[in-house]
Amino acid sequence: MRIPFVAGNWKMNLSVAEAVKFLQEIKGKLPDPKTTETCIAASPLFLESMVQENGDSPLIISAENCFYEDEGAYTGETSPKALYEMGVTHTIIGHSERRKYFNETDDIINKKVHAAFRNKLTPIICCDETMSRRESADRISWVVSQVTNALQSVTPEQAEKIIVAYEPSWAIGSGKTASSDEAEEGCYLIRQTIADLYGDDIADQVRVLYGGSVNDENADDILSQTDIDGVLAGGASLKPDSFLNLANFLQ
Ligand code: 13P
Repeated sequence: MRIPFVAGNWKMNLSVAEAVKFLQEIKGKLPDPKTTETCIAASPLFLESMVQENGDSPLIISAENCFYEDEGAYTGETSPKALYEMGVTHTIIGHSERRKYFNETDDIINKKVHAAFRNKLTPIICCDETMSRRESADRISWVVSQVTNALQSVTPEQAEKIIVAYEPSWAIGSGKTASSDEAEEGCYLIRQTIADLYGDDIADQVRVLYGGSVNDENADDILSQTDIDGVLAGGASLKPDSFLNLANFLQ
């Protein structure tokens, strides 16, 4: 049984004070993590205050990104080691905005996945699909290759812990969410790729999320799909009420 995973990605929004207030507002209103795990990914500037405010609340505090080295002369980068020391447990890796604006390649993403595991962080690996790819003949092979490349040299013991998000960039921030069939198709493809790499038992354990214009009106349809174990919401995670609606959908 895969425990559903509802995550918000705040991107470069809110302030430290707003982040802390958000956590105060949702405290005590989150589902039991045995039935749904909840997570917010935020700017590294907020994470320490969020971990402190969170206390023993079940909310998972995640980074939105980390670097692939633990320390050294890498001006401006976020150390995965420092994230772990701060009490952060998860990190998004390979979001389409990182691929697009910061030229992150599959090779960089794979190094970041290893850096996350080296520092006891659970990677939430994002898999993109642009509209031009969607309309092209190599659409399936592109999704397959992103997953395969991200997981190069990842052991089966590590692979069963990953979370993967299918986030077609044509649906991100556009208000144009994928239909539940399109979302299921992408998530199914990711699970099949993991099955081809590691076998069915591991593929059955990995949580696969959908992200792209998810909100509390369309989440029902999306979350009812067989291969979709949760969502990664951007805009809809910025307000406590709408995040709580998503978090408590399956209760
Ligand atoms: P939106 O929900 O705002 O489309 O963003 C999705 C996303 O990129 C989450 O990582």
